[in-house]
Amino acid sequence: MPASSLEQIVSLAKRRGFVFPSSAVYGGLGSTWDYGPLGVELKNNVKRAWWKSVVHDRDDMEGLDAAILMNRLVWKYSGHEATFSDPMTDCRNCKSRPRADHVFVAQKGRDPKGLVEINAAIAAKELKCPKCGSTDLTEARPFNLMFRTTVGAVDTGDDSGLAYLRPETAQGMFVNFGNVLDTMRRKLPFGIAQIGKAFRNEITPGNFTFRTREFEQMEIEYFVRPGEDEAAHQAWIDARTQWYVDLGMRRENLRQREQEKHELAHYAKRCVDLEYRFPMGWSELEGIANRTDFDLKAHSRSPENPDAVGELKYFDQEKKQHIVPYVIEPSAGADRATLAFLCDAYDESLVKEPAAEETTKLRELVHSFMKSVEKRDPKQMDPAVKERLVAAADKIAAALPASLPELVALSDDADANRIEVWKKVKGAAERLAEDHTRTVLHLHPRLAPITVAVFPLKKNEPRLVEMARSIKSNLQKAGLRAVYDDTGAIGKLYRRQDEVGTPYCITVDFQSLEDHTVTVRDRDSMSQERLGAGELGTSLRGKIS
Ligand code: ATP
Repeated sequence: MPASSLEQIVSLAKRRGFVFPSSAVYGGLGSTWDYGPLGVELKNNVKRAWWKSVVHDRDDMEGLDAAILMNRLVWKYSGHEATFSDPMTDCRNCKSRPRADHVFVAQKGRDPKGLVEINAAIAAKELKCPKCGSTDLTEARPFNLMFRTTVGAVDTGDDSGLAYLRPETAQGMFVNFGNVLDTMRRKLPFGIAQIGKAFRNEITPGNFTFRTREFEQMEIEYFVRPGEDEAAHQAWIDARTQWYVDLGMRRENLRQREQEKHELAHYAKRCVDLEYRFPMGWSELEGIANRTDFDLKAHSRSPENPDAVGELKYFDQEKKQHIVPYVIEPSAGADRATLAFLCDAYDESLVKEPAAEETTKLRELVHSFMKSVEKRDPKQMDPAVKERLVAAADKIAAALPASLPELVALSDDADANRIEVWKKVKGAAERLAEDHTRTVLHLHPRLAPITVAVFPLKKNEPRLVEMARSIKSNLQKAGLRAVYDDTGAIGKLYRRQDEVGTPYCITVDFQSLEDHTVTVRDRDSMSQERLGAGELGTSLRGKIS
């Protein structure tokens, strides 16, 4: 069963060391996350697979790692200082600050024609605050999404030291176009790829790591002759879609969405978004745009840009003339891709029906939790929170035991944890889930944080332990991410590795001591085969490539 809500993914991610809320010891920092021991492996594998596919496996690409801090003029001439903003309105009644364009779309059923039309609708009291319903909204103003910082030891109080944390990695590639072209002796078409952090002061971050203020991008700028741009664009749309599929993402959860004319940035000729069916609905994974010659021209010396020191152009040997290449930009998020792979891999099932009385007992506990929530007066708990908790618990109680995974996922809910009886519900649900459910992450072996786990059948049998440890070391030497574990019975160890997506587990038993063979268990089919200890490295390498 796939995850029915993002909470199930969040819960697994926290429980098993993929992603933790940032600065939790001080109460956290909204929508900011830290990748834990398994999460960093997963995300690194995603980035490595991307780099291999778009740089190492091609002959027309180069890599780059540009600085996060750049000359402020980059952001002036890229257009970010003037236009990288969201229109915000303030509700005078409830003091909330919604995005005015979102309010317009939700209430008018169409996109607004710019800030002017939004403000006309606000003035005519045609738009309501989405939180309290009041029409007492202020005029919408653009709110720039770039984080500002100051360069240098002295804060002069003016803007002379002003710099931005880059809101995208792309500009680093545009301004290095000439450097890469010259040093690598490139001919068109060729591209530059870069992975790195980007920062946006998003107004409404959320949905776990889907939208955060600090995130990582995996971007390509691919330079072509004008006229060859449309074919190159289509080729990148196909190649990028195939990359997700080759790494195991289900085709039915991936779609290409052609941006409509009115959505396109003013310089873009065409843009296709690759979208993934996240538990909260279809949402953008990656945008692939034909940006024409806008960016290279924007950073070239001209009457519009007297600050640039030269021109970013290409000498076409055949035509004996300078041209400004067009650029195709496949721009993906490393965090979003990681989240999508996690969601796609997630599979939770009830493997054994609990005894009827155990289910009844748990259902009664959930009902008493609901009663406690209902009893809370509005000063103690916001009525909207009460309603949400009661609705969620009611739905879960009706579907037990099948809904056990959802109940476990709710166990981290901060509001639920304020109710005393929740501790009992949580304890009982986790105990029952431990014995009756199986969670598996069917991650592609190249993405899985751990490739192989090695166990001795008995941890108090030194010969088994020694052999298991030595097999693990040999697998590490063979370049595989291998771990040793003897902290539970074999069945439990398999379950733990399934839950973090380890594709192979090896068990060393008494037969191993005699004939040097071991059991290799496959996560997805749960089938087991005996292989010689000496051939494990080659065999597993073959399976994961
Ligand atoms: P959205 O419409 O979701 O805000 P966008 O169109 O502004 O995204 P781009 O500027 O095209 O996004 O950035 C390219 C990619 O970077 C996106 O497809 C996404 O994967 C990632 N990305 C953008 N903003 C964020 C964010 N706030 N948090 C995480 N990833 C992001």
